[in-house]
Amino acid sequence: MTTSAPTWTNWTGNVTAHPTSRSAPTTVAEVTNTVLSAAESGTRVKCVGAGHSFTPAAATDGVLMTLDDLTGIESIVPTRGADGQVDGADVTVWAGTRLHRLGPLLWDLGLAQPNLGDFAEQSLAGAAATGTHGTGLREPGIPATIVGLQLVTADGSVLSCSRDSHPEVFEAARLGIGALGIITKITIRCVPAFVLQAEERPWSLSAALKDMEGFARSADHAEFYWFPHTDAINLKRNTRLPGDSDLAPVGRLQNLVSDEFLSNEVFDAVCRAATRRPSLTPRLNRITSRALSARTFTDRSYNVFASPRRVRFREMEYAVPLAAAGAVLGDIRDMIDRAGLNVSFPMEVRFAAADDVWMSTANGREVCYIAVHQYHRMDHTELFRLAEEIFLAADGRPHWGKMHTRTAEDFATMVDRFDDFVAVRDRLDPARVFGNTYTERVLP
Ligand SMILES: Cc1cc2nc3c(=O)[nH]c(=O)nc-3n(C[C@H](O)[C@H](O)[C@H](O)COP(=O)(O)OP(=O)(O)OC[C@H]3O[C@@H](n4cnc5c(N)ncnc54)[C@H](O)[C@@H]3O)c2cc1C
Repeated sequence: MTTSAPTWTNWTGNVTAHPTSRSAPTTVAEVTNTVLSAAESGTRVKCVGAGHSFTPAAATDGVLMTLDDLTGIESIVPTRGADGQVDGADVTVWAGTRLHRLGPLLWDLGLAQPNLGDFAEQSLAGAAATGTHGTGLREPGIPATIVGLQLVTADGSVLSCSRDSHPEVFEAARLGIGALGIITKITIRCVPAFVLQAEERPWSLSAALKDMEGFARSADHAEFYWFPHTDAINLKRNTRLPGDSDLAPVGRLQNLVSDEFLSNEVFDAVCRAATRRPSLTPRLNRITSRALSARTFTDRSYNVFASPRRVRFREMEYAVPLAAAGAVLGDIRDMIDRAGLNVSFPMEVRFAAADDVWMSTANGREVCYIAVHQYHRMDHTELFRLAEEIFLAADGRPHWGKMHTRTAEDFATMVDRFDDFVAVRDRLDPARVFGNTYTERVLP
């Protein structure tokens, strides 16, 4: 159904757009009709997922399409390992499905996504389109788990893409920043359901910097948060256990105190205080880092990977080569001190396996993701400008959904398969029906 559209704003509130209309198709045929009529009238179309990108990736001045009514699991095909035994399944999911809904649906089928980010409000298609990742050197990001997808292109074709069918479109569309068409279904390779044993505890940045690679390899999924202006980090190590392992989840009360209250309500109050009195930031960060105590718990994988995030922030995240991670973090710490910046939000440090997705930030190399955040009421400009200089000097590549200043000219040298991606896009969408201000900047 197509209706008039109100002004659109992304989750963090730094991108606003004025679509001409809103379309919420309930079938693939409706997606096709909307695309064709927009193309014929010279109007642009953009599919928005959950609007959680910090870049204007989903903004449009044309038809804003949402696949919120195209959700759920469509089919499951078991996969077999070299020994002939079933080792998981290829699961076809409607593209608008939110990740937080997919986890429980897969669990009921005895399956799981092999890795997830720290948050699960995103739609599957939106998460894939910008290269959403979690942490763990044995696991790549979400696009690398895609083995098939259905794409509606600008001429109304409905392409079923995989390594064997339209292989070039498949390679480009696994991480396509919404520029190739509307993805209506995605087939992801799932593993048997598993449980995560989580360890969270305070540690020091100086200790972590001595051997970042050792830390990254110390668990299936290792990451840490560093509190700027202090030496305090809070590490998180998740170890995979079989799906039928005993669970020892965070108690309801403990969850309310640590995840809901400390991570959201109290943290928001702390950030507001730092906004009013920036010079208090180092002291507030010391207090916040001490408030997080050690804890262990065991729960279904999707419950451990993701937590609620209600405090709004701006974010820049770059993938740097694993070997450069320690030096880059050290440089950022020194830069914050030298520039006299006040940074109230912790920085997040994660890792991912190399993959072969054309536009992936981890294409061809193991990476460390370093994310710089700033509270949404505080000015992020100087922090992000100086951090980006450090990332770029270390051969970093920016997350497609997080703030950066790179353009098509930069990506042409940064991304090995950029020209191949651009060739597929030129062939599928010569009139730029799926263009927007973001694609105008990052693609030729
Ligand atoms: C609180 C928070 C936590 C986050 N945590 C992580 C994290 O742990 N790891 C990480 O890597 N990133 C993370 N991100 C970034 C986020 O995962 C990405 O920006 C992701 O793209 C957002 O998904 P979305 O559904 O909101 O997509 P949107 O932002 O709505 O759209 C992103 C892109 O996908 C395109 N798109 C959406 N649906 C379709 C479709 N059906 N067909 C074609 N194109 C489509 C859009 O046009 C747009 O180009 C986080 C962001 C926030 C705000």
